[in-house]
Amino acid sequence: CARGRDVVNALRHAASAMTPPSDNAPRATLRRDASRIGQLLRPEAGNYTLGLSSLLVVNASDVISPVFLAVAVDLTVHALGGAEPTTPAILRWVGLDATTFTVLGAILLYLALHLLSNVSRYPMLMYTAVPSHAIGQTLRRSLTAHFLRLSQPFYDRSKAGDLMSHATNDIQAVRMMLGPGVLVGSDTLMIVTLVTGVLLSLSWQLTLIAFLPLPIIAWVTNRLSHAEYERFETVQADLATLTERSRESYAGIRILQGYAREAYDRERFGRYSERHRQKNLALAKVNALFMPTLDMMVGASTVLVLIFGGLQLVDGTMSVGTFVAFLFLIGYLSGPMIGFGWAVSLFQRGRASLRRLDALLAEPVEIVDQPGALTASGPGSLSVRSLTFRYASAPPTDAASEAMATARRPALADVSLEVPAGSTLGIIGPVGSGKSTLARLLVRLYEPPAGAVRLDDVDIRDLTLASLRSAIVLAPQDTFLFSDTVARNIAVAGDQSQETVEAFARRAHLHDELLQLADGYETMLGERGVNLSGGQRQRLAIARTLATDPRVIVLDDCLSAVDARTEEAILGSLRQAFEGRTGIVISHRVCAVQHSDQIIVLDEGRIVERGTHVSLLAAGGYYARVAEEQGREDAGASAQVAQEERR
Ligand code: ATP
Repeated sequence: CARGRDVVNALRHAASAMTPPSDNAPRATLRRDASRIGQLLRPEAGNYTLGLSSLLVVNASDVISPVFLAVAVDLTVHALGGAEPTTPAILRWVGLDATTFTVLGAILLYLALHLLSNVSRYPMLMYTAVPSHAIGQTLRRSLTAHFLRLSQPFYDRSKAGDLMSHATNDIQAVRMMLGPGVLVGSDTLMIVTLVTGVLLSLSWQLTLIAFLPLPIIAWVTNRLSHAEYERFETVQADLATLTERSRESYAGIRILQGYAREAYDRERFGRYSERHRQKNLALAKVNALFMPTLDMMVGASTVLVLIFGGLQLVDGTMSVGTFVAFLFLIGYLSGPMIGFGWAVSLFQRGRASLRRLDALLAEPVEIVDQPGALTASGPGSLSVRSLTFRYASAPPTDAASEAMATARRPALADVSLEVPAGSTLGIIGPVGSGKSTLARLLVRLYEPPAGAVRLDDVDIRDLTLASLRSAIVLAPQDTFLFSDTVARNIAVAGDQSQETVEAFARRAHLHDELLQLADGYETMLGERGVNLSGGQRQRLAIARTLATDPRVIVLDDCLSAVDARTEEAILGSLRQAFEGRTGIVISHRVCAVQHSDQIIVLDEGRIVERGTHVSLLAAGGYYARVAEEQGREDAGASAQVAQEERR
């Protein structure tokens, strides 16, 4: 009964599990997968041994305990004047006789074995579940560590939802294989071996007849398990797409609501959801076939035993007891057969997920420390020489030839510049001119060509990533805020004191506004800092950059969301912060770069103008034009503010 409940529970789990089995792969793939699974299991061999030994105790107790019940019944019948008690074969094998027991003794032995079986169930479940969770944890950690090492180009190619799906659903499928899969699979093997042994001891001829459907079982299992493997893989890939779609909808909820696109998104999500339902349905069909088919095979065995055993019974070559025992034991195989179907399903799903995870773990880390990499230690002079850079994958474009030509163009072409330590460089240029690309290359978010970018006269490719990214800190255009307190969002690079954090917030002109938040610096920021304004987020990013105390600060259009007055004030205090450091300010606005020691203008990836504010104004090019336009706009805006203030 207890095992029956286990099987039913297992089936319930199976219904909720959403993963895949089956495999057309050749034997080599199977061997490779088996060796990979073995590799995962090995560190937990001790726990599994304890778990499976407990399972053996459970099974042995369950099989043997009814023997003592039978002895107790026979002894009672005998005491009441009935027939002599018969000694079950298993007791005879160990040299015992039914008459050596008392009724009470037999009942106590039955209860003891029953108790042993139930007590052993706890270690059986724990020592298979615990290691499977430990392996899941190890996989999760390896995956996270790998995600943290993978470079920007990988993330350009990947979808966040896909990666999230690997980290959750695939790891869960592997865990199910190594926990319930191992337990139910081993249970099935033990019971089938035990029952087969007893059947053979009763009549090997009838056992062979009863096992005639075995080749059909093998064939069906093989076909269905392949189908399950493939369909599960499809379901997992589709689940990743669905996860990505939901993530995108929630991340873009403000746009969807702002543009009243809810119906469109609902309809689009509905289509993805329906596709996922269909794929799950296809998988469920295989699952639904698996267990009834196996159960039917057990039914076929029963019919064979009834026919051939019945004939033997009629011609007197088989006793009634043996015939009844045969029927009982064949029926007993039905539970393990269902368990077998579930175990195969879990293994196929786990294998498919493990392969998906391994493919991800094998993803090469493109940007790494070179052997013998140096530590950045100079004052912070930068030198860029003939830098040409093209992104590996252009962002999706439509068929328009002009757009395609733009996509093929290098993001940076033949860029050369020198930024002495302690000086400032302003970079300005139209959208898509390569400003952010240059900033990203300075910190090796993308790998620049060898020798093209040097920090203190050392090729940045020869520096350790950690030291390079401590020496040069980039405040990117899109500010990301963690779901954490304001203070910890500023002090991401280390454990700065509250005073230090506040000092940098003051420099970024954010301190007073932070004090007005519900819990000041301890205010929790929601996902992506939704409870801060765009300008506040940008200033927090500047405070964060200053707090890391780098030698080179790169601000990539970090003030686009603040008004002109605040920008002036921040830039004023940043000039103090820049003292003794190298500073690079990227902006669309002339006022943000005009005080820089040198300014470059980028257009279509090339430096088209360079000089100081004064010389560039005099040159009358792009910079002068933009300065004039923005000057007019700023004058207009100031006049309006003054007018409003007078009112
Ligand atoms: P903006 O002022 O709008 O921030 P930008 O001057 O910073 O623009 P970049 O972001 O450096 O311009 O982009 C330069 C070119 O490189 C553009 O054509 C852009 O489409 C392309 N590009 C940028 N990022 C990638 C990427 N991850 N993969 C492929 N192409 C990219």
